Amino acid sequence: QNAPRKAGRHFLQIPGPSPVPERVLTAIARQTIDHRGPDFGKLGLSVLDGMRSIFKTKGAVVIYPASGTGAWEAALANTLSPGDKVLMVETGHFATLWKTMAGKLGIETTFIGSDWRTGADAGQIEQALRADSGHTFKAVCVVHNETSTGCTSRIDEVRKAIDAAKHPALLMVDTISSLASIDYRHDEWGVDVTVAGSQKGLMLPPGLSFNAISEKALAAAKAAKLPRSFWVWDEMIAAGKSGYFPYTPATNLLYGLDEAIKMLHEEGLDNVFARHDRLAEATRRAVTAWGLDILCKDPKYYSSVLTGVVMPDGVDADAVRATILDAFDMSLGTGLSKVSKKIFRIGHLGDINDLTLVGALAGVEMGLGLANVPHSKGGVQAAMDYLAASAKKAA
Ligand code: PLP
Repeated sequence: QNAPRKAGRHFLQIPGPSPVPERVLTAIARQTIDHRGPDFGKLGLSVLDGMRSIFKTKGAVVIYPASGTGAWEAALANTLSPGDKVLMVETGHFATLWKTMAGKLGIETTFIGSDWRTGADAGQIEQALRADSGHTFKAVCVVHNETSTGCTSRIDEVRKAIDAAKHPALLMVDTISSLASIDYRHDEWGVDVTVAGSQKGLMLPPGLSFNAISEKALAAAKAAKLPRSFWVWDEMIAAGKSGYFPYTPATNLLYGLDEAIKMLHEEGLDNVFARHDRLAEATRRAVTAWGLDILCKDPKYYSSVLTGVVMPDGVDADAVRATILDAFDMSLGTGLSKVSKKIFRIGHLGDINDLTLVGALAGVEMGLGLANVPHSKGGVQAAMDYLAASAKKAA
């Protein structure tokens, strides 16, 4: 027997996929066109150009019909050779998965450890690179926003660390959960390969992923010997010059992408980032008022995309999530691997506003009560006080 219909809107407050705006859904619902016909080229050029504006790059961008994991593999497979060494930082679950993938591809990884409560330490990166006087590291790979913990690394500082060590390694950055939510500058920060995905700040369904590629990475690709076929950049970049793909693209998702990029620019990227910062601050004030710990322990690395909430000892975070889903029809992010059952994650990214967030926080506060989690009331009030005090006022 089917479960009874739930009225109202499901609250999708996981840190991606994020809710898809009506305008994007409508764009995707248009009829599929000939991907080799004249209209497609215009769409292709528009989304490639639009993505350059989002990455803040004048360089090459490729779009894969794949989840973010595919774009991770593309970054590694295009630039590296079997046995190459790369330096990675254990910011959390996703950094660990990227490292595991590198190992499977035949790349040797050095992993700077962490307690999953902080961002990448640029000082440690600099130290490791200075110690590598033979320049054996071919790349430094960092996850910008670690979705499993809610810590955002400072890519500008990582760049400075590489420069200070005078090390020629490529810089590769995973922005799957930060792009179009948190300030990001591919060219200015000297990033060689940026990896991104469609289902978070870009407000699309899952299914597209991206590489933004520097000239230095393109040069590295010429010498790189890892086997690659589907992910190969050259053919995509060559076809992309006229807005086409070497194979059948995800046409309807590209309609959606074109619309989402328009929406981001209508709001203004700086306003998008400020909105995320503000909603994140309101969330942290709620968590603090509840008397609960934020997983990210250093404010320098606080994420504007999600907040990891640590449960008191003996409380199963997944049981709390289940209570909230059942009672209030809201999905929160689960704790992944090392922090499984210890935390839940509140996503505050994408197409959301003050009232979406207040509704989500109300669901959490009521759920904490229903699940008998020791806490103080007043988190939603603290968030509302902050949002009201910092709200735009009519002139
Ligand atoms: N990297 C980060 C930071 C992520 O958040 C995710 C997914 O959530 C991935 C990589 C993997 O991307 P996907 O699940 O789209 O393959």
